Amino acid sequence: MAKKDYYELLGVSRNASDAEIKKAYKRLAMKYHPDRNVDDGSAEDKFKESKEAYEMLADPQKRSAYDQFGHAGVDPSMGGGPGGFGGGGPGNFSDTFGDVFGDIFGGGSRRGGGQRARRGSDLRYNLELTLEEAVSGTTAKIRVPTLVGCDQCDGTGAKRGTKSSTCSTCGGHGQVRMQQGFFSVQQTCPRCHGSGSQIDDPCTKCRGEGRVRDQKTLSVKVPVGVDNGDRIRLAGEGEAAEHGGGPGDLYVQIAVKEHAIFERDDANLYCEVPISFTAAALGGELEVPTLDGRVVLKIPGETQSGKMFRMRGKGVKPVRGHAVGDLICKVTVETPVHLTGAQKDLLKQLDSLMKKGGKKHNPQASSWMAGVKNFFDGIKF
Ligand SMILES: [Zn+2]
Ligand SMILES: [Zn+2]
Repeated sequence: MAKKDYYELLGVSRNASDAEIKKAYKRLAMKYHPDRNVDDGSAEDKFKESKEAYEMLADPQKRSAYDQFGHAGVDPSMGGGPGGFGGGGPGNFSDTFGDVFGDIFGGGSRRGGGQRARRGSDLRYNLELTLEEAVSGTTAKIRVPTLVGCDQCDGTGAKRGTKSSTCSTCGGHGQVRMQQGFFSVQQTCPRCHGSGSQIDDPCTKCRGEGRVRDQKTLSVKVPVGVDNGDRIRLAGEGEAAEHGGGPGDLYVQIAVKEHAIFERDDANLYCEVPISFTAAALGGELEVPTLDGRVVLKIPGETQSGKMFRMRGKGVKPVRGHAVGDLICKVTVETPVHLTGAQKDLLKQLDSLMKKGGKKHNPQASSWMAGVKNFFDGIKF
């Protein structure tokens, strides 16, 4: 299958500047991000396409290979090894991501330019919150199983008192050149994985890896108004890399538990309030719960079942910007049960009094009955 042109994919010209390319990618990444397009499967493909295009064009080496040879110049399957051109691995995900989404939730950027050392993997932690916690914000303590830097060798992987030596395969460059057809490809050194050094006498605690399995306890500040699917990035709290490279990031994924009373839709809260049929007919005051205490809701007389009442400003303040939403109460009229003989008698009296009043007491039922009558009159049996 023919691949689309990377410049066309991003909607930029062939001589676009790096800033233009980055800007175009940010726009597409926000638009097609899978978290924002849960129901649209094609968005994920578009997201991946634009990510690939960005990764190729953002790297000067890859971009010039692409300009000269087209897709053949940068095809990952021709580069050999996972991920092709030195990149690959889980680290790439947040490299392009942190840029785009880091500014939503602080997080801070650790990316300096220049040579990128091999990074540790990103981690994901699912944090379940109650609706109250999500709405008012909270600080959550979480325990994360992860890989941390080895304290015995300070992450170097070399036995205490010994030193690593220069990698004999790449001569310390961390990269090797390989001839691939008519042009040469630069690859991460398979022996030292880009570190440029090799360990002759490995650390006994981490067996030369520079990191060990451990549990990390973290306290996560959850901002006010987060919702299902929101993600908080904790820069540098992912897994430690091998041999002292930079750590990955930790993504805390928010899941909000169902609430007994309220349902949330972005800034608004919904609840259903059953009322007695006498309250519905005569009107009255009703105490309804909100997330911060009770408020009085005035029900006018002759309220029909299913009517919604909006209480302004009693909803949620969403994490991204907008104003506080509303609480919307839907009243449902409850038919009385366990009636005594005396109560039934009173209802029968009421019923006959209402029948004397004709159609006006039950306009909906009356007009519905009239519609049914018309329907049967129109049918010839
Ligand atoms: Zn060690
Ligand atoms: Zn090497």
